[in-house]
Amino acid sequence: MSKLPNVTPSIFAAMTKLATEHNAINLAQGFPNFAVDEKLATIVAEVVKKDVHQYLPIAGYSPLLTKIAKLILDFYQRKVLIETEILVTTGATQALFTTILALIKTDDEVIILDPSFDNYEAPTLLCNAKAVRIELNDDYSPNWERIEKAITTKTRMLIINSPHNPTGKVWKENDFLALENLLEKNPRILLLSDEVYEFITFEQKHISIHSRKKIADRSIIVSSFGKSFHITGWRIGYLVAPEYLMKEIKKVHQYMVFSVNGIAQAAISDYIDVISVDKLGKFYQKKRDYFRKLLKNSRFELMPCEGTYFQVVSYAAISDENDLDFCKRLVVEHGVAAIPISTFYADGKDLKLIRFCFAKDDKTLENAAKRLCTV
Ligand code: GLN
Repeated sequence: MSKLPNVTPSIFAAMTKLATEHNAINLAQGFPNFAVDEKLATIVAEVVKKDVHQYLPIAGYSPLLTKIAKLILDFYQRKVLIETEILVTTGATQALFTTILALIKTDDEVIILDPSFDNYEAPTLLCNAKAVRIELNDDYSPNWERIEKAITTKTRMLIINSPHNPTGKVWKENDFLALENLLEKNPRILLLSDEVYEFITFEQKHISIHSRKKIADRSIIVSSFGKSFHITGWRIGYLVAPEYLMKEIKKVHQYMVFSVNGIAQAAISDYIDVISVDKLGKFYQKKRDYFRKLLKNSRFELMPCEGTYFQVVSYAAISDENDLDFCKRLVVEHGVAAIPISTFYADGKDLKLIRFCFAKDDKTLENAAKRLCTV
């Protein structure tokens, strides 16, 4: 008897596999294809000679915790307690999983906003809790009326994600005001804020839950070094939570991973000093603009992209196939892999939308666009 009867292999892994099999350009799974920063490579070579090869404290490598606290202070003017409020994790994936496992009980309800990343529902189901999937508005802003209606006495957690995967939507001040209002009225609800694309916004600055004093004390905020430092394969991120929640989260974390890879933690601790994440938005904005320009004469319709490194496009003018079939055909016949957006909906809603990752070098984007312009 499966504990997760409806779960299939992740669409990200599946599309990457298909892309590899067909030697296609992989714009599906979200990861950069450019070379790692030389400064980071140099730091890694130095770090391995140091004493970083044994278990670390459960929360993380102490110098790294200090730097994370400084990053949060610099960017969001929030003072987090280094000893008790930060946890280094094996990627944001583990941060999300561990948080849900630690805080959600049988029959609790967790509100997830669709389209949603697939890492929210599975851990909820493993807790014998209910995943309440509520659709965002057509423009992917939160629909507060729908969210409020979905709240019951069993609602324990609301999961939010801005900048948003897959749509690139970035929440505005009024969304956060509405969120604060909602949580004020519902004191039992915890907030899990997935902010892994926090440094990748374009025309506007990211608003973090770190800077929302009214609700930060019942929020778990998830960040990703993989996304911010272009090292998704290192599997390293962190979460911040108030001590009363963190205590519970650490109980699970200690049995799940104990402590995260020491070499990675030590290297990132040094690397944080030599790079500035505030350049990331501009860096990816250039890629977004270039990719959009390259696709201008294609038959794909470009949706707005305010943040993240994903561009959603409509293929409604090209085909009425469902989006999964279209993505498969795109790989096989045109040599480009994308992610079908229907996989982000509880009911598999098919809007003829697919997602491309533009975290690629210019040549890759050019080659992909050349192929896409013939579709
Ligand atoms: N976050 C990445 C994406 O959306 C993939 C994560 C994963 O493969 N688990 O493409």
